[in-house]
Amino acid sequence: MIFADVIVDISHENLDKTYQYIVPEELEKKAVIGALVKIPFGRGNRLIQGYIVGLSEVPNWDLKKMKPLQQVVEHGVVIESQLISLAYWMKENYGATINDALKTVIPVKKTVKSVEKKYIKRKRTIEETVAFLEQSKKKNHKGRARLLEVLLEQEQLEYQIVVSKFSIARTTIRDLEQLGYIEIITEHRYRNPIKQIDRNFVPVSLNEEQERIVSAITADYKQNIRKTYLIHGVTGSGKTEVYMSIIEMVLAEGKQVIMLIPEIGLTFQTVMRFYKRFGDRISILHSRLSQGERYDQYLRAKRGEIDIIIGPRSALFTPFPQLGLIIIDEEHEGSYKSESVPKYHARETAIERARMTGSSVILGSATPSIEAYDKALKGEYQLFTMKNRAGKGTLPTVHVVDLREELKSKNRSIFSRKLRKLMQQRLEQKKQIILFINRRGYAGFVSCRSCGYVIKCPHCDISLTYHKDGNLKCHYCGYEVAMLQQCPSCGSPYIAAFGTGTQKIEAMVLKEFPGARVLRMDTDTTKGKDGHEKILSAFANHEADILIGTQMIVKGHDFPEVTLVGILAADLSLYAGNYRSAERTFQLLLQASGRAGRGTDSGEVVIQTYNPEHYSIRTAAKNNYTAFYQEEIAYRKMLDYPPVSHILAILVTSKEEEKAIFSANYLKRAVEEELLLKEKVKLIGPAKAELSKLNDIYRQILYIKSPEYEILKQIKNYLEGLVHYSDAMKKITVQFDFDPMNS
Ligand code: ADP
Ligand code: ZN
Ligand code: ZN
Repeated sequence: MIFADVIVDISHENLDKTYQYIVPEELEKKAVIGALVKIPFGRGNRLIQGYIVGLSEVPNWDLKKMKPLQQVVEHGVVIESQLISLAYWMKENYGATINDALKTVIPVKKTVKSVEKKYIKRKRTIEETVAFLEQSKKKNHKGRARLLEVLLEQEQLEYQIVVSKFSIARTTIRDLEQLGYIEIITEHRYRNPIKQIDRNFVPVSLNEEQERIVSAITADYKQNIRKTYLIHGVTGSGKTEVYMSIIEMVLAEGKQVIMLIPEIGLTFQTVMRFYKRFGDRISILHSRLSQGERYDQYLRAKRGEIDIIIGPRSALFTPFPQLGLIIIDEEHEGSYKSESVPKYHARETAIERARMTGSSVILGSATPSIEAYDKALKGEYQLFTMKNRAGKGTLPTVHVVDLREELKSKNRSIFSRKLRKLMQQRLEQKKQIILFINRRGYAGFVSCRSCGYVIKCPHCDISLTYHKDGNLKCHYCGYEVAMLQQCPSCGSPYIAAFGTGTQKIEAMVLKEFPGARVLRMDTDTTKGKDGHEKILSAFANHEADILIGTQMIVKGHDFPEVTLVGILAADLSLYAGNYRSAERTFQLLLQASGRAGRGTDSGEVVIQTYNPEHYSIRTAAKNNYTAFYQEEIAYRKMLDYPPVSHILAILVTSKEEEKAIFSANYLKRAVEEELLLKEKVKLIGPAKAELSKLNDIYRQILYIKSPEYEILKQIKNYLEGLVHYSDAMKKITVQFDFDPMNS
């Protein structure tokens, strides 16, 4: 006998609940996972609809009480079925419970009103709050104390951020509200992310390179050939125009389109280009939409009110009834990999969804990921290359400056002489400059000059960052303390902030170029609503001469007046200590250089580095992607890294360090015993994870390498079962991550 696990209402929160039904023999063929079924439910045996999410041969409760399925309504046709199958595929390929996988593909319908946003505001004076803070600390009310500390720094904060980022319990918030120390403010927000639509659309005529790609993909499409394409086109080569032409063709075929963009890559400029061309058949998802707003977009797509959705990773699960095309712009971006379980990669998942729905996939990038390019060279994806800029502008001239030479000649400034001279020139010519720094807050860490001790967050094992307001902050959990005056380790007074962050660079620019108008873009200045957009449009309107920023500014913005890009310390990301750091460095350098010379004047780029001979920097300076790829793939081959080999990272976390270590070792032994005879597997660790403690939770990591993804999948399945059933594994959490992006 076969039994089906059925979930009843997938748009509500209690996805965890499944009900088991007997599958009558005559329905066995049709009762597959994902099938929409009718079942008798509750006392009155009311017939309701549900979806099959699991099948088994063992009943999990009293057979006598179990009811049979009534009818298999449809299978493979309803959109939910597809998404459920996709969830199963994700569970299988990335590791997760089915509930976590389902919640990823089907948004939860919450009962919150969809147009509100809640904030928490400090209600008492600073003195009163400080007094209560002291009291809470004495009584060891940690959550309370933490929230009060944060609110002393910033009077008002988004409710959601307080809960998720500062991990403060809702009950703690409620208590403080009842005690009268905080108030909760509800703000009503508009629903449509785009207010005014200006539809003056002037089509460009495609150039030869663009035309070649559009007609090849169109020809395939019309012959019902579905593939994955990779467009490798230099920044500004006109990839977006290519996407738009193909979208138009796919829409004309009566199909719908999903376009993924990196989390922070969505600029107003890009949105407007799409709105002008496609009007309100588009919807945009972005991180500032509330859950209710998201759910609205989901329904609109399902009802056929829109044809195109543009959004980050999660937009991939938009329930279009006739999906025809998925585009992934800036395919190499790290944000396409989910950081929570299931840790899926949007590229592979998109390809699977396309396979299920008969859609094509287009990947685009100026610096394709090594994985994607490798697949393209092997013929799994079809490769197109665009070598020239499409509109105005040419690729910039790049200068590499060796910072060791600068030091030798006694230049201790963060600006090399070359860069300073070019900046001076641009300021005189009233042109604009972008200064790029590799990592936010690298202003970074505070250390003791006598003993080398680095000050870390007591909750997170991550170095605290010095901020201009004189405080040290943890970027992970929000912990904050005043700058120390003495080394906690040796007592020496010589402790100081190290390195150069955006704030410090701003100060130095103002010192060396008095009168220059400077804008700074980092997570601190873009916190508020539309903070991002405000800075970018101010710079686009030439309200400033110099824009200083981190990763955020290298995304596809078009500033025609920018003719100089300075990359202050190109090497920082080389030391990130993982196998992707060379790739990441190359990508950042190329994308940053791509910001120069987008207008009529040609641009220049200065790359400052201590490693001018490193292949990432050499090849980036020559804008030579294929040369970089050759060196990088050789390195990956030598060390068995993806895509040559695969890595399964197993993260074991627990409140008790002992338990985390014990469990990680237990899993390791289990794998060794299970796989005694398999040679194609290598185990590394367990050891402390790079971030060895987060919010007081200890983290151990174990790596398993194999050239065959299938073997790693089997190991994952085996361990999932073990974790689920073994008593030794209670009170710990295990997360799987295939081919990790960050470690
Ligand atoms: P990418 O997406 O590759 O960075 P875009 O599609 O944004 O490139 O194009 C870069 C710039 O060139 C844009 O300002 C765009 O309007 C312009 N452009 C693109 N294709 C053409 C074309 N065929 N003729 C004229 N201008 C074009
Ligand atoms: Zn912390
Ligand atoms: Zn010291």
